[in-house]
Amino acid sequence: MSRKRGGDPYRTNARFNSTCHTCKKQIRKGEPIIYWPNGCHAAHFKCDEADYNHSMSLIADEEQFQ
Ligand SMILES: [Zn+2]
Repeated sequence: MSRKRGGDPYRTNARFNSTCHTCKKQIRKGEPIIYWPNGCHAAHFKCDEADYNHSMSLIADEEQFQ
């Protein structure tokens, strides 16, 4: 399994109204979201917080090896 740099999710604020990938509800401009470049989708921060934290811990583990 390989994962490219640059595909890591990151937390940001919505720059425009869109739809949450996880709960399918509206994301309003300015709300905290998590953006997933690999899937080109965004979700409310709260909806994907657990997945995001999990990804961040994996990244931290990788960096300790390097
Ligand atoms: Zn949501």
